[in-house]
Amino acid sequence: MRTEDTIAAISTPIGKGGIGIIRVSGKESHRIAERVIRGYRKISETESHRAYNGYFINPESGEIIDEIMYIVMKSPNTYTREDIVEINTHGGIYLIKRVLEIVLSQGARIAEAGEFTFRAFVNGRIDLTQAEAVADLIEAENERSMKAAAKQVSGELKQSIYKIRGEIIDIYSNSEAEIDFSDEEIEIEEKMMTINKLVEISKKLKKMVNSYQTGKYYKNGVKIGIFGRVNVGKSSLLNALIGNDRVIVSEEPGTTRDIIKEEISYTGVLLQFIDTAGIRESKGFIENEGIKRTKIIMDDSDIALLVIDSSDVREDEDLKIYNNLKRKFSGEKEIFIVYNKIDLIKNINQIKKIVYNKEVKNVFISAKKKIGIDKLVNSVTKNLYLDKSIDNNDILIVNVRHRELLIKAYEGVNRLINGYRSNIPNEFLAVDFSDTIENLGKITGDVSGEDLLNRIFSKFCIGK
Ligand code: GDP
Repeated sequence: MRTEDTIAAISTPIGKGGIGIIRVSGKESHRIAERVIRGYRKISETESHRAYNGYFINPESGEIIDEIMYIVMKSPNTYTREDIVEINTHGGIYLIKRVLEIVLSQGARIAEAGEFTFRAFVNGRIDLTQAEAVADLIEAENERSMKAAAKQVSGELKQSIYKIRGEIIDIYSNSEAEIDFSDEEIEIEEKMMTINKLVEISKKLKKMVNSYQTGKYYKNGVKIGIFGRVNVGKSSLLNALIGNDRVIVSEEPGTTRDIIKEEISYTGVLLQFIDTAGIRESKGFIENEGIKRTKIIMDDSDIALLVIDSSDVREDEDLKIYNNLKRKFSGEKEIFIVYNKIDLIKNINQIKKIVYNKEVKNVFISAKKKIGIDKLVNSVTKNLYLDKSIDNNDILIVNVRHRELLIKAYEGVNRLINGYRSNIPNEFLAVDFSDTIENLGKITGDVSGEDLLNRIFSKFCIGK
C-alpha cells in the first residue's frame, strides 16, 4: 500500500442512517476540504478537532450538495498521524456516495480496506496487535470480547510482549558477552539465575498461549451441542435452559428434526445451545437428514451434553451415542452425561450409569421440573476456563496469529532452558535466541514482511 497520497472512504456502514461520515486522510486532505466545503471560516483558520457547520459543494458547478458538519484534524495528533478531514453528511446512500465521488475528483484516492489503520501503524501510532484489535473491536459481539479487544487497542498486549522480548534480549546479550568467570562457583550460580529467568518467561508465555481458548470463548461464545436419543428430553432441557417454551416438546419420537439454536449470556460469555434430532438409525428421510445434521453439529460443538432418560436407560443405544461423541471429540472436548427425568426416579443412586469413568461428568436433572439446571450450567462454564490462573484482568489472546507465534516463542524458550541445563555451549544457543526474539517481534510488527501486513490489513472493512 502506498502511503504518500491522500485517501478517502465512507467510514460509516452503507445503508440508511441518520448521518454518514466520509473520512479523508493525507497531505492533500485540507486543500481538498478548502475546495468542497463552504463554512464560516477558511479551513486553514479552523481549530483542529472541532466540529463546524457548513455546506458541501461541488466545486465545478458551485451547487450545494448537503448541509454538513465537518472536523478538520491537524497532523500529528490524528488517527493516522496525517492531516484528516471528516465530513458528516445526512445519511442517504446516494448522497454519501456523491460526496465521496466529489472528494475523489479533487485529488484523493479511494482507501483500501484497513488503510486508515495501516497508516496509523506505519506512522508509528499503534503497533500490530493494536491494529488487529481495532478489527476485533469492530466485530466484537459481546461485552467480554469487547473488553479483550479494547485492552489490546490500548496496548496492553504490546507492553507484555515488549517486556518479555526485552528480558530475552538481555539474557542473550549477557550470554554473548561471554564473561570469563575465573571462579567456577560464580559461573554455576550465574547459569542457575539465567535458567530461572527463562523458566519464568516460559510460564508467562504458556499462560498467554492458554488464554487463547478462554479468549476464543469470550469472542465467539461457546457452542454446546445437546445430543441423545429421541424423547429423552433434549427439547425440554433447551427450554429449561433458556427459560421459555419456544422449542416444541412432543411425546412422539423424532419431533426435533431441525437444528435449533438458542443463546444465553452467562457472566459475559455467550452460550449457544444446539439441539439436535436424536441420533437413531432410521429409514425415514427426514429423520436421516436429522442424523446427518447431528454429525455436523458434533464437529461444530465445543462441549457436548449427552441427555439420557434416567427412567429408561438403554445401555446399548445410549452408549452407542456416547462412543460416537467420544470418537469425534477424541478426548479434546468435554462430554457431560446429563441424566434427565430424575423426578421419575426414587433414588438417583439406582440409575444405571452408562459409563463408569472418572473423566466423564455425570449431572442429574429434571428438565420438566427444572431441577438441577443451574448446577448443570455451572459445571459446564466452570470447565471453560482451561487455565484456572487466567482471570478477568489478564490479557486474553484472541488472535490465532498471535497464538501461533507465542507457541513458537514458548518452544524456543524451552529449548534454551534445556540447552542451558545440558551445558550446551553458548554459540549453539544463538539460533534459538534469535528465533524467539524474532517470533515475538512478529507479533507486534517490529519484524514484519509485506505479505504479513497485507494479510492483516486486507481483513478490515473499507473506511477503517
Ligand atoms: P426430545 O425428543 O429428546 O427433544 O424430548 P422432549 O423434550 O420432546 O421430551 C420428550 C417427553 O419427555 C415429553 O413428553 C416431555 O414432557 C418429557 N420430559 C422431558 N423432560 C422430562 C423430565 O425431566 N421429567 C419428566 N417426567 N418428563 C420429561
